[in-house]
Amino acid sequence: MRYLSTRGHADRKRFCEILLEGLAPDGGLYLPESYPQIDDATLTRLRKVYHEQGYADLAFEILSLYIDDIPAADLRALCAKTYTAEVFGTGEIVPLRHLEDGVWIEALSNGPTLAFKDMAMQLLGNLFEYELGRRGEELNILGATSGDTGSAAEYAMRGKKGVRVFMTSPHGRMSPFQQAQMFSLMDANIYNIAVKGVFDDCQDMVKAVSNDLDFKRKYKIGTVNSINWARLLAQVVYYFAGYIQATTKNAEQVSFAVPSGNFGNVCAGHVARMMGLPIAKLVVATNENDVLDEFFRTGVYRVRGTADTHETSSPSMDISKASNFERFVFDLLGRDGARTKALFADALNQGGQFDLSKDPAFADAATRYGFISGKSTHANRLDTIRDTWARHGMMIDTHTADGLKVALEQRSADVPMVVLETALPIKFAQTVQEALGREPDRPAKFEGIEALPKRVLVMDADVAAVKALIARECGY
Ligand SMILES: *Cc1c(COP(=O)(O)O)cnc(C)c1O
Repeated sequence: MRYLSTRGHADRKRFCEILLEGLAPDGGLYLPESYPQIDDATLTRLRKVYHEQGYADLAFEILSLYIDDIPAADLRALCAKTYTAEVFGTGEIVPLRHLEDGVWIEALSNGPTLAFKDMAMQLLGNLFEYELGRRGEELNILGATSGDTGSAAEYAMRGKKGVRVFMTSPHGRMSPFQQAQMFSLMDANIYNIAVKGVFDDCQDMVKAVSNDLDFKRKYKIGTVNSINWARLLAQVVYYFAGYIQATTKNAEQVSFAVPSGNFGNVCAGHVARMMGLPIAKLVVATNENDVLDEFFRTGVYRVRGTADTHETSSPSMDISKASNFERFVFDLLGRDGARTKALFADALNQGGQFDLSKDPAFADAATRYGFISGKSTHANRLDTIRDTWARHGMMIDTHTADGLKVALEQRSADVPMVVLETALPIKFAQTVQEALGREPDRPAKFEGIEALPKRVLVMDADVAAVKALIARECGY
């Protein structure tokens, strides 16, 4: 399997070459040259693998269709090491919970940081350690976070050989629970940097360091953001696991509702559907930051400015543009790299938007690719959390509530709807408290974490100081 860029760059790369890279050289995103097809007999076999051998073996089966430069035995061992009951809390890894007639919740948030990002990031940690070890190289991951991504990255990379993580976050602005999760890590290769400023200051510092190409090369600076193909690929697996749990026969169809921000999660659903998994609809649910909902309703993709990006009670979906969306548009346009480049490099840079409403391809988004969408507001979120608790005794987080709200609007009587749970309520306790008048349950291993010792450096928004820290810790 080779990988190409959505913007037409000519080189075709293998999995391990793009594993440690971010964007393609032309600024595009990597996608496989073609999607391996799952026929009826294969799906029957995968069903058996999941039921009899478990999630890790299912993951190996799917990943091995896309990865041919890691020996099969090694890849199987990496999957087995990643998807364990110890790390993910249950042997099923992603159990399906029945909510009501035709509606299910797929639990993706039982990993170390209680959000679905662990599903991919935990595998990435093991893949990085494996590949860096093979090459005899090191990697310094530099990132900015306001919560979920940074903690998922740290818990995936802690103690991994050849990897250091330098994670900036806005000083004093994360919830006490999030701060405790990150800052209580004592691993020598994890560096928490609390920047006196806001999230944008953190992001600007990361950009400034990455734009210094000499520094970037010398200190092997890398990222783990959501455009990484390996992360997306890891997520494809739980669409298969969800489908297998919701059905008994391959003829049955299932729809998925996905709380969306950067379009990484639902893009993995698109890949699963392109492989032939019988998915009826992919329901994109946004919060007040509705760039994606607007596109699927109107054909206009309009990136928001900072002033128009709302701070909401489902903060992990507060985005101004959806960084993985280009992958879907590339497929939608018949994999025309030149047109994709014209839209994402030229049109977005000039006017901040593009309009496909009059393009015949736009209708395909719904008809041929199964995409529908909807949005949810703070009031909807509170109502959905309350209603789910009152009717089913089930507590859900704010992001999952956005997904469920849109799922209930879009479901059809004859197709089961699986809502992806993207975080546990304890991570967003304040809003759950507002909805229910009580604190969410806390998993036992998180009792009292706010009182643990903290390991964090407080710093001004000073690029030179971050560089000095990295150089000192690398010692070269
Ligand atoms: C990251 C995240 C999302 C959004 O996922 P995308 O892949 O960016 O669309 C939704 N909910 C939670 C809790 C998240 O952490």
